[in-house]
Amino acid sequence: MATGNRLPRYFRGRNMSWSFPIGHLFGSELRVHATFFLLIAWIGVAGWLQGGPGAAAVHILYILILFACVIAHEFGHALTARRFGIRTPDVTLLPIGGMARLEKMPEKPGQEILVALAGPAVNVVIFVVLALILGAERLAAVTLTEITLASLPAQVAVLNLILAVFNLIPAFPMDGGRVLRALLSLGMDRASATRFAAGAGQVVAFGMGLMGLLAGNPILLLIAFFIFMAAGAERADEAMRVLARGLMARDAMITEYEVLRPDDSLELAATTLIRTTQHEFPVVDPATGAALGLLTRPGLYRALDAGPRSGPVAGVMDRDVPTASLTEALTDTLAKMQTGAPAVLVLGRDGSLVGYITRENVGELMIVANAKGG
Ligand SMILES: [Zn+2]
Repeated sequence: MATGNRLPRYFRGRNMSWSFPIGHLFGSELRVHATFFLLIAWIGVAGWLQGGPGAAAVHILYILILFACVIAHEFGHALTARRFGIRTPDVTLLPIGGMARLEKMPEKPGQEILVALAGPAVNVVIFVVLALILGAERLAAVTLTEITLASLPAQVAVLNLILAVFNLIPAFPMDGGRVLRALLSLGMDRASATRFAAGAGQVVAFGMGLMGLLAGNPILLLIAFFIFMAAGAERADEAMRVLARGLMARDAMITEYEVLRPDDSLELAATTLIRTTQHEFPVVDPATGAALGLLTRPGLYRALDAGPRSGPVAGVMDRDVPTASLTEALTDTLAKMQTGAPAVLVLGRDGSLVGYITRENVGELMIVANAKGG
């Protein structure tokens, strides 16, 4: 369904918490969100109640084939993006669809359109191939409610058509929203085009939510909620990118903060957390001033829960924190945070820590920079 990092925050994150890897495909890690198994279990139970274990197996087979088509769709995006030099570190399966996390979206409208259309195009190809094999009569006779082994190929064909059409709705976060934004940005600035496509997404979500309520369909409601949140996130991200243009890492960084030493105890970290307003603490080598990592609030909570308070922060800090130079373009720094990093550490020319940047203080900078007053 979606490309980029346009998921509501609770689905995001470096490891997309609650998702785990099941293998690699075309150089991207394939991940599955835990809730996906809930969906499979639910489908299986529904099948069992309808027609016993045989029906349960057919239902599960059906959902697995369907999600294979979703993965094919996502790789349509990913492999097209690769032609423009953009990598896709991972593809995640959610119960509501798939998500290819592209490093970035191409900003050239033509390329963005090709990447966006490649996903639905895969579903169209699957549909056409199946349609040619099955013939029009079997497709016309298909019902989507009763799933049997004999009807499965025709149902998969029709669902691929639905997937393609649904994703072409010209609204964020659907692929069609990306096409719309790219087309609009030929005639207006990208931020306005994004606002328009995201607004369209929220209108679609609202209509879908209303339908879900009226029909008493919880799945439709869930999808509507997801679309609404993702469309809003898209708009916020783009607004941030626009405002960040022309700014550097040093314009956004926090320069007054407390640091921890690697051998400081968790007890000390805990009292520092309470004593200050900071939610994350750079861990710095006292001799060289070099940044060794970052202790986050969730990381500290987990550590306090799990073990003795006398342990050193070095054992629980996050070592894999992105860094930036003082003069790095803020748009690049933001891109580093897109992958779910809690903060970006800003290093001086000698490699020592001079500040750090969080989403929250970039947000503050944006509000201040955007304020109307003189
Ligand atoms: Zn897509």
